[in-house]
Parts: sequence; structure tokens; C-alpha cells
Amino acid sequence: MSVMMPKPSEAILGRRQSIVNALRAILPGEGVVDAANEMAVFESDGLTAYRQMPLVVVLPSTVEQVARVLQYCHANEIPVVPRGSGTSLSGGALPLEDGVLLVLSKFNRVLEIDYDNRCAVVQPGVTNLGITKAVEGEGFYYAPDPSSQIACSIGGNVAENSGGVHCLKYGLTANNVLGIEFVTIEGEVVRLGGKHLEAEGYDFLGLMTGSEGLLGVVTEVTVRILQKPETARAVLIGFPTSEQAGECVAAIIAKGIIPAGMEMMDRPAIHAAEDFVHAGYPRDVEALLIVELDGPGAEVDHLLAEVAAIADANGATVTKVSNSEEERASFWAGRKAAFPAVGRISPDYYCMDGTIPRKELPRVLAGMKAFSEKYDLRVANVFHAGDGNLHPLILYDANKEGELHRAEEFGNDILRLCVEVGGVLTGEHGVGVEKRDLMPEMFSEDDLRHQQRVKCAFDDKHLLNPGKVFPQLHRCAELGRMHVHKGQVAFPDLPRF
Ligand SMILES: Cc1cc2nc3c(=O)[nH]c(=O)nc-3n(C[C@H](O)[C@H](O)[C@H](O)COP(=O)(O)OP(=O)(O)OC[C@H]3O[C@@H](n4cnc5c(N)ncnc54)[C@H](O)[C@@H]3O)c2cc1C
Repeated sequence: MSVMMPKPSEAILGRRQSIVNALRAILPGEGVVDAANEMAVFESDGLTAYRQMPLVVVLPSTVEQVARVLQYCHANEIPVVPRGSGTSLSGGALPLEDGVLLVLSKFNRVLEIDYDNRCAVVQPGVTNLGITKAVEGEGFYYAPDPSSQIACSIGGNVAENSGGVHCLKYGLTANNVLGIEFVTIEGEVVRLGGKHLEAEGYDFLGLMTGSEGLLGVVTEVTVRILQKPETARAVLIGFPTSEQAGECVAAIIAKGIIPAGMEMMDRPAIHAAEDFVHAGYPRDVEALLIVELDGPGAEVDHLLAEVAAIADANGATVTKVSNSEEERASFWAGRKAAFPAVGRISPDYYCMDGTIPRKELPRVLAGMKAFSEKYDLRVANVFHAGDGNLHPLILYDANKEGELHRAEEFGNDILRLCVEVGGVLTGEHGVGVEKRDLMPEMFSEDDLRHQQRVKCAFDDKHLLNPGKVFPQLHRCAELGRMHVHKGQVAFPDLPRF
């Protein structure tokens, strides 16, 4: 582990037992877990190279319990790390040695489905796929579909502003959340938005979405649900080079077509997925696009023909359209299983997440090839091609001396290159601890101070998820007021909730 976490407070560690006792008074029964063997399952999230036992784990089941835990931690200056299902790939839910890990898995109920208003009100521990399962019988679904959707929680999705293969057309979590309830570190319950579209006043809902557990603990989410499209068909398009696939993506978008999803995989990822899932992918291509079109049948047929013609013009050697719902699902199953599939061909992999302007794809791919040689490590690539969101999977073996370090340096070089070509450090996995120390590559010290002033308006003691996102924490009293600076959007002092 090469990331430095804040030094644990000896004072907190020294009074662990009294903290556990106080939390037990709030959460009777099985709501507090403090035995080392029982806490071990929580010591890591999806960024498995990083591990840390928490001070204690709490599993509240009511909003009131969440509020009382947070009030207690605030009064006693104890850090708190919120956790949903623990699938974060950026170490967002990594525990702190002197911090309470607040796990929301008991908040697992769908509270209301309002078909008339096209929305569902759910608790934060409901899985992403659980929302679709709850409404699919009536022909509805929840659009953002991270590959981890079977496990990840909607609360985690809100905290990370998660995306998925269908976000190109239907938007990220931020575009599909209508309202939330959250609890501040001081234990106040705040509601933002609701079943209606635009929230009144400042867009605090937008601010909370993607805030990585640093501003509050989400206890309820109202999401938009959509009616399933009349028809959805996917097409596999294989190319001799990644450059041609990249050109094809640009040409489809330039033509004004917005597919429901447009994903790209390179040869190592294609082979790993095909060996694992037998999705029907061609093996003799260097790059594969999966393009899905949805809508009324006649429109889908028309768009499929247009996409096929664009693919032809860009040198595609294989085009295969799904002819049944099972075949369409199978095309996606390969892509959605790409991470575990790569896990079968390497003892460990490190999943990166950067976003670039689409036209820079050839340059970034060439850069990755050079880094692969420099660090002597293989890389498999999957992309949300339509969004320019890259997920290079760096293959390494943690048991081999120095390989983890080389993998991390390789990943850092990729992210630096993403920023250099005009992109950003993260697409959908968040900053967490993983990209925290790269933030200065993208933001000036002034920018980071501005961002911390927002954090201070919610959490002036830096107790919520410290050590994540910001490479250095400044005392709120030293940061002063926000003001407009260098064209950045700035806020006046935020109202207290
Ligand atoms: C195999 C695999 C595939 C993946 N594919 C995708 C993908 O396609 N797209 C994508 O976007 N992500 C993907 N991810 C990453 C991950 O699943 C998402 O970031 C997901 O949103 C995390 O949800 P979670 O419930 O597991 O959150 P956790 O990992 O528990 O927490 C993530 C962050 O959210 C905070 N948090 C969690 N719950 C709350 C809450 N109720 N209130 C406040 N803060 C909270 C935590 O503090 C932490 O900072 C993938 C992960 C894996 C392992």
C-alpha cells in the first residue's frame, strides 16, 4: 500500500472500548461489530490492494440510529466512513483505523413505487439491479447499469455518481436521481428534491451526487424509472485495429446517432471475456464494438442499417446483429463480466478509470502500449467508448516483488496522459484514495481549497471519510470564505442545514 492515510488518533484508539459501549447503547443487538474476525470482511472494498481494519463497524437499521451515531461521532470527534456494498474501485469505502465504519446494508427496502410519476423511493442499501427487479414486472427499469449492478448499492451509486453501459443515452446516476434524504455529520436529517424534476434553490442534489461520502450519509433515494423500450438490439462490430474502432465511434456520434450503449474492448479483453462467458465474440479482431440501438422497431432497424454502413466505411471485418433477447443479453454478458474474466488470466488486476475526448483515443492507446513496455506489465482495455471513459485493466501479481508498485505507477502514467490530452482523472469510479494524490495533476492548490470550502460547509471537523479525495486537508478556519476566483464557480457561505 503506497497511499498515506491520516495518522490515527492515539486518543481515539485508547478509548475504543468506551466508544464501542456508547455505540451499543444506540444500536442494541447485532448493530455493532467489534470482533476482529467479524470485522475482517469489511477491511477492504473493490480496491483490494488496500486493507485496513476499522475501529468498529456499525450496521444501523433506522434513520434515527444513523443520526444518533453521527451525532455521537461529531461530539466525540471520531471519523466516520460510510459504506454501501463495498464494491468501490477507488478505495472510497476503505476503513480508518480510528474511524467508525457505518454500513448501510440493512437499509434494503424498496419503500414506494410510483408508476404514475415514473419514480421509485428506495433505501440506500437496495442494489442497483434490485430497483429494476422491483419494477420490471410492470415493464419498467432503472437505466444506469454499472457492471457491478448485482451487488453495488444505490447509495454507493449516488456517492460515486456511477455510470454503466446504458448511460450514453440515459445519463449517469446524477441524471436519474430525483431526490435524496441524507444525514449530516451533526445528525440533522436533510431532504433534497423529491418526485418532481427541478429542485428549488441551489442544486445541492447535484453537489451531493458524486460527493464520495464526504458530505453526508444518504438514507433514502428517489430514482427515475423508465418504461422499457419497445425494441432493443445489439450489434457486435469487429475491427483489425483499435484506431478504426475509435474512428467508427466518432463517426456514429457525428452522424447524430445516440446508441443506448456503445462499448469497446481490445483483443486481450475480448479473449478473456469470450473464454469466460462464451458471448459469441469474434476472436480474430483487435477491437470489438458492442453497439445497442433501442426504440420503436422500425427506428431500430433503420439505425442498425446506418451503423452497419458506418462500420463498413471504417474497415469493420465482422458485423453480427443480435437476433433474440437471449443473444442481446449474451453480447452484454461478456462485456459486463470483463473484469472477473480478466481476473481469470492474471492473479491480480488494477482497474483504472479515466475519461478523454473521444478523438484522443488512438493517442492514449499508443501511450498505453508504450507504458506497458516500460513497466513490463500487460494491459487489457474495456471502454465506455461513447463517453470516452477508459477502463484499462493492468495485470500484475501482488506476490511478485515490486509488481504492485509498477502497476500503480503504470496506472498513474495513464491518468496523467488522460489529463494531458484534455480529459479527467475519473469517469465513474471516483477519486477515493486511489486517485487522491493525483488531484494536483488536474487542480491547482486554489481549486482544491475551493472544493474544501464546500466540504467545510457540511463537515467543519473533517470527520466524514477523511483521507479520501483531498491530498491534503486544511483546517476549515484557515480556509475562510469562498469567493469567485479564476472563473471557477464559487459559492457564498452555504446555509447551515
Ligand atoms: C467488478 C466491478 C465492476 C464495476 N463496474 C462499474 C461500472 O460499470 N460503473 C461504475 O460506475 N462503477 C463500477 N464499479 C464500481 C462500484 O461498483 C461503484 O462505484 C458503486 O457505485 C459502489 O457502490 P457500493 O454500494 O459498493 O459503494 P461502496 O463501495 O460501499 O462505497 C463507495 C463510496 O460511496 C460512499 N457511500 C456508500 N454508501 C453511501 C451512503 N449511503 N451515503 C454516503 N456515502 C456512501 C462510501 O463512503 C464510498 O466513498 C465496479 C466495481 C466492480 C467491483
